[in-house]
Amino acid sequence: NKQVILKNYVSGFPKESDMEVKTTSLKLKLSEGDSSVAILVKNLYLSCDPYMRSRMSKLEGQYVDSFTPGSPIVGYGVAEVLDSSHPNFKKGDLVWGITTWEDYSIITATEVLFKIQHTDVPLSYYTGILGMPGMTAYVGFFEVCSPKKGERVFVSAASGAVGQLVGQFAKLFGCYVVGSAGSKEKVDLLKNKFGFDEAFNYKEEADLNVALKRYFPDGIDIYFENVGGKMLDAVLLNMSLNGRIAACGMISQYNLEQPEGVQNLFCIVRKGIRMEGFLVFHHYHLYPKFLEMIIPQIKEGKITYVEDIAEGLENAPSSLIGLFSGLNIGKQVVSVTRG
Ligand code: NDP
Repeated sequence: NKQVILKNYVSGFPKESDMEVKTTSLKLKLSEGDSSVAILVKNLYLSCDPYMRSRMSKLEGQYVDSFTPGSPIVGYGVAEVLDSSHPNFKKGDLVWGITTWEDYSIITATEVLFKIQHTDVPLSYYTGILGMPGMTAYVGFFEVCSPKKGERVFVSAASGAVGQLVGQFAKLFGCYVVGSAGSKEKVDLLKNKFGFDEAFNYKEEADLNVALKRYFPDGIDIYFENVGGKMLDAVLLNMSLNGRIAACGMISQYNLEQPEGVQNLFCIVRKGIRMEGFLVFHHYHLYPKFLEMIIPQIKEGKITYVEDIAEGLENAPSSLIGLFSGLNIGKQVVSVTRG
C-alpha cells in the first residue's frame, strides 16, 4: 500500500521534500478489530486543495485539524468500495469524500462520504465540478453573493477548480464577468473556453487598481474572493455601493508567516459592502439540489470543466505544492494509478 506521508509540520511555502511516498503493508480485508462501520476502499482519484496547506501546519482551535507528521495525508478523493460493514455502503459502490492519500484506505469517519449516483460522467469530476469545489462555487455564488441579472462580477484565481465554475454560473445567470489569473494560457482559457467577458493576467499589471478600473469603470457589484492580499485591497477601492464579497479563500496568504495588511477595509463601511465568509462543509445539505442543477448542464454542454490530472501517487506532492505557484491549469487531480 503506497502512501503519501507528511514528514513534519511546514512553515512558509511547502516543498516536495516535506512529504515522502512510502510503501507499507495492508490486508485487503476488513476484520473483527475494525470499527463496526468500516469501509475498505481502493482510491481512484485524489484532490489537491489549497486548504490542505493549513493542515500541514501545527494548528490550534481552527476549523480543521493538523495532519499528523509521520502519517499519510488526508483529503478528498474518489474511491471504489471493496468491502464494507457500513449499512449505507456496499462492495462495488463508487464514493467521493474524505479519504487518505494511499492506494487502499479503511474509512471509518463517513460524515463526508457520498455514494456516486451518476457514473456517465468522468469519475474524476467528483474531486472538482461534482465534488467539494463545485459545491463551493455553487454555494458561494448563489447563496452568498445574492446575484442579480446584469450585475458586474469579478472572480480571482478564476481559472482554478472553483473560479472557472463561478465565472460560468455568473455568465449563465446573465452577469458581466471578469476574471484574473496568473498566465496568458489561463487568461485565454477564461475568455475562449469559459466565456468570461474579459480576463487579465494579474502578474502583468503594475497597478491592480488601474486594471480593475479598466474592466469596471462603473464598479464591481460582486467579488468572488479567492486570493486576498493586494487583490482584495484593490477590489475594495472598486466596489459599487451595496456590493457583495463572497470570502471563499485567500490563497496569497496561506504561506505567509504574517498576513499582509489590507489598507482599504474602511470601504466596507463607506460603500455599504457586505463581505461574508463561508465554508462549504456547512452547506452539504444542498448537494442533491446542486446535482439536480449541474448534471443536466454538463450533459447539455452548457458548463465545461478543465482538469489537470497527474498520474501516480509519486506525483501527488509536486501536484499539491504546485497550487501555490499556479502550476495547475484547472482542477488539480491525482490519478492514483497510472495509465
Ligand atoms: P485553484 O484550482 O484555483 O488553485 C489555486 C490557484 O491559486 C493557483 O492555480 C494560482 O492560480 C492561484 N494562486 C496561487 N498563489 C497565489 C497568489 N499568491 N496570489 C494569487 N493567486 C494565487 O484552487 P481552488 O479553486 O481549489 O481554490 C480557490 C480558493 O478557494 C482558495 O483560496 C481556496 O482556499 C478556496 N476554497 C474555499 C472553500 C470554502 O469552503 N470556503 C472550499 C474550496 C476552496 P494563478 O495562476 O491564477 O495565480
